[in-house]
This record gives sequence, C-alpha cells and structure tokens, in this order.
Amino acid sequence: MSMYISENGFITLTLAAIETSTKYEASGILLGYDVFHKRKHTYFVESVIPYQIAEREADSIYVMPYRKKRIRRVFHHYMKYKIIGEFHTHPGGSINLSSADKDDIRSSDYQLEIVVALEKKKKICPWKLKRGVLSGSIEEYFIEIASWRVKGRKIMKQSIRCPFAVGFDYSKPLSI
Ligand SMILES: [Zn+2]
Repeated sequence: MSMYISENGFITLTLAAIETSTKYEASGILLGYDVFHKRKHTYFVESVIPYQIAEREADSIYVMPYRKKRIRRVFHHYMKYKIIGEFHTHPGGSINLSSADKDDIRSSDYQLEIVVALEKKKKICPWKLKRGVLSGSIEEYFIEIASWRVKGRKIMKQSIRCPFAVGFDYSKPLSI
C-alpha cells in the first residue's frame, strides 16, 4: 500500500497545519482516486479541502457529522475525483494515532487518514522520506506527514510518495 500526494495536496496539507499552528487541530477531506493492481491499493491525493467549521482543541477536533454527510452527499456532482479519506493535524504531537483516532478511523466512511504532526523547531530539516513518513521544515515549523489505513482488523501505515516535496526517487518505484 502506498499513497501518492500531489503538489496541490502537499501545499494544502502543510498550509492547513500551519494556519492552525501548534495551538489547534485542523482536519479535512482528501480528494483523488485509488488504483488496485496486483492485490495492492495505491492512493493518489490530488487535492485536499480543510473543514471550515469545527470545534478545535490542541488534541482534538470535532466536525458535526451532518456537515460531513452533506459533503459526502453532494460530492458525486464533481465527476473527476472521489473522497478517498480524511486528514487531521497533531499540533506539537507525533504522527502516531491516539486510541480515539483509531476508533474514528475504524468508524469513518473512508477508513483512511493522513496525520500531519507539526512543532516549532529552530533547526531547518530538508524534506525527506523515511520509513514511509514524509518530514521536513517550512520556516520554523517541522512537519511530519503519515498515512494510515484500516486493513482487516489492523490499522497499517501506508508509505507516502511526494515527488514535489522530495523529488522523484527512481530507486523505489510505486508498487502499481
Ligand atoms: Zn489524532
């Protein structure tokens, strides 16, 4: 399993995290498509839309279910992409899932979640991919991006690919 994040997707994910900064969580939907080949899913995030109305705390975010349902209901009018998952941020936290996160992902319509962790760091770190997690700095913000998906009874990390952030890595082609 792997997840490909486009330039647009990367920009919105990181900007949404930086907008709410280390004080509040941000969340939203991932738009794109998936390719199923040789019994493997590869997800392509083409665009990311943050939820605008939410109750935000440093360690949680709540979006009214009827608003999520409204988006899901009308989305088929946009023919090009589908909603493939959701994202939320962890201000000052790690990319690991809390037990509340695991419950939310299991019960969500998509069962796929990107977590964007950010903290303030003086040291500037170049963008890189390590063990499937994308990380790097934008000004004083150190950002890590991980993707999680429900598979059977487990929640597995999916390897992220984002050529816009780290450049093409020809040594490890996408597994499709
Ligand atoms: Zn979380």
